[in-house]
Amino acid sequence: MASKSEKKYRQIKRAHIGVSIFEFCLFMIASTIMLVCAVQQTTLYVMDTKLSSEYERISALARLYDKARDADDAAIYGLLDDEDCDYIVTDKAGRVVRQKGSNTCGSESGRVLLTAEGKWITAYRDTERDYIFPSKNERIGLDIIRFREWLSSEEDEEEKELDLDSPRERFINLPIWLSVDVAGGEEHFIGKAVFSANRRDVFMITSFIVGIIALIIIILITMLVSAIRSVLRQRRMISLYFSDIVTGGHNWTWFLVMGERFLRKRRNAKYSFAVVSYVMVNYRNYCLCHSLAEGEKLLCNIYNRICASIDGKEMCAHATSADFALLLKYESEQELKERLQRLTEELSVISEDHIFSFQAGVSLLNRDKGRDGSPAGYRETDLDTEYNNAASARMTLADSEDSGIAFFDEALKKEQEWLDTVQERQRRALDNEEFMVYYQPKYDPKTDTLKGAEALIRWNSPEFGLVPPGRFIPIFEKNGFITKIDHYMIRHVAADQKRWLDKGYKCVPVSVNVSRAHFIESNLAEQIRDMVDEAGAPHELIEIELTESAFFDDKKAIIDTINKLKDYGFSVSMDDFGSGYSSLNSLKDMPLDVLKLDAEFFRGGSGDGRGEIVVSEAIRLGKLLNMQIVAEGVEAREQVDFLAGQDCDMIQGYYYAKPMPGNEYMERLKNC
Ligand code: C2E
Ligand code: CA
Ligand code: CA
Repeated sequence: MASKSEKKYRQIKRAHIGVSIFEFCLFMIASTIMLVCAVQQTTLYVMDTKLSSEYERISALARLYDKARDADDAAIYGLLDDEDCDYIVTDKAGRVVRQKGSNTCGSESGRVLLTAEGKWITAYRDTERDYIFPSKNERIGLDIIRFREWLSSEEDEEEKELDLDSPRERFINLPIWLSVDVAGGEEHFIGKAVFSANRRDVFMITSFIVGIIALIIIILITMLVSAIRSVLRQRRMISLYFSDIVTGGHNWTWFLVMGERFLRKRRNAKYSFAVVSYVMVNYRNYCLCHSLAEGEKLLCNIYNRICASIDGKEMCAHATSADFALLLKYESEQELKERLQRLTEELSVISEDHIFSFQAGVSLLNRDKGRDGSPAGYRETDLDTEYNNAASARMTLADSEDSGIAFFDEALKKEQEWLDTVQERQRRALDNEEFMVYYQPKYDPKTDTLKGAEALIRWNSPEFGLVPPGRFIPIFEKNGFITKIDHYMIRHVAADQKRWLDKGYKCVPVSVNVSRAHFIESNLAEQIRDMVDEAGAPHELIEIELTESAFFDDKKAIIDTINKLKDYGFSVSMDDFGSGYSSLNSLKDMPLDVLKLDAEFFRGGSGDGRGEIVVSEAIRLGKLLNMQIVAEGVEAREQVDFLAGQDCDMIQGYYYAKPMPGNEYMERLKNC
């Protein structure tokens, strides 16, 4: 499938050449028609003029004959016979009543239109030359072939060499007998006219034709010059279309169009090819600290260095911002990796006062399959998709600012497809209430009684079944949909609590996770209060869990929200304590009610008691700060006993219960 860029490129190419070829064809057709018409009209004109003047001559003699006959004057007859013209006079019956010279007038006659005079005359063939012209009842028309035959059939070559003015020197000297009515129509004066063409006539026709041909040539040359200009303009446009303003080199469009063309030609390439998305990390920061101009200068240097490091069978283009698109050949994945590492090492010190990082995403191109299934060329390769794959692989490194290389593989592809699917379905899933609230109970380890629960989301998808939150919550956190989920959960939990209370169950507080993204909303506490009030649940039965990482955002705003929530009667907990960066500092500033020890505290362990020391000290610290302690991820009885001994308030873990649907949790409530 031709990409948009390829189509545009073809359009640019066609736009100029196309018009020139069309113009040229049109012009050639018009010129040919013009030439044919010109030759026809000139020849017709010359022939018509010739015949008219001969008819005039014969008519004058006929008038002289009329005069001599009327006066029966021998002197006038003498004058007539002195004229250089053979003639016969016939009566109505066709008998010759007077004759001068030999009578070679044939019996066959024709009608000829004298265009100049607009009249028809009768003409007879000459029996001596036996030239059939004009044929019966035919208007004088053009017949170039016949005209040329006249020229070539000229009997005496020598005649052509003679003086122009003499009648004998004509190229063509065709006798034709023209009839004029005399004696009031009683007789016909038939004079022997000469239909002739001399050099002057031929010269005139030839000059006219040559003139027209010259005109055509001039127009042709003009067209040629304009076509050359078009080609030059087209080249300039293509070069603009493919050039990158920042680096002065090739741009992304060039990479796409030329890359695919290049790959199509690599039918039996010895090498394999890979598309690389190569990015300078923190380019925007560099521009902020220096200037945009400096940044662009740097990009230009990077581009030139990359170009210098590739050979003629490889490609490099500046894609966008600090991204470069590379098409590299390789023999093995390892060799390609080492090569990119070397390039990064070289580029990291491209400027004296800076160390730069570069991240590369690589998509190894799959060869097409030949008819017999053997690997063939790269005709099917869609560079746009491949670059997108490479960029996706590169994005997996985006959380870090260090240099690195990531290869695109099937797992990543599946992950991307999943991401796409989730984003596509999220809205509908929410509207259709496909998200379900599961409850994981929290138990007092000393008495084994139910003390609370955490609400955990599940996606009951008609397509994919029960999807755990780890598969979609991180996606929602990135795309912002998480705020809608948080609202959804609070509303449902509050509604459940209210329903269970109404049924007379002894409800315990349920904690709901509120994501970090949500905490930037200044009226979050009010939103939560309103939602819970709407459901009619008491505030003390709802606890808000904040994950540890949330405390690194705007501290003051978070403290404000926590205080407001507490004022409204909600308790607030710090989730996953101890899992990430040091949160001790947060404990100092945040007036929290509950500390949830991360499940990591209870996994593995060295067996030398160090874990227990950390846990017991964390519990002590929480207690000193007037917080309730919840231990998460507890699976074994020994852990429960240990935590009970340390005065841990609650345990949330598989030892007691896994997260369960609302109705199952309700059964537990009933029994407590
Ligand atoms: P979390 O808030 O730390 O939730 C506790 C997770 O630990 C739950 O996983 C729970 O099933 C699991 N867990 C509890 N006890 C044990 C145990 O003894 N052993 C083991 N192996 N696991 C245990 P879950 O339900 O898959 O949730 C994963 C994470 O997804 C949650 O971690 C939370 O960060 C997020 N999440 C779940 N529901 C929501 C929600 O409604 N809103 C938001 N914003 N995030 C949610
Ligand atoms: Ca939680
Ligand atoms: Ca947790």
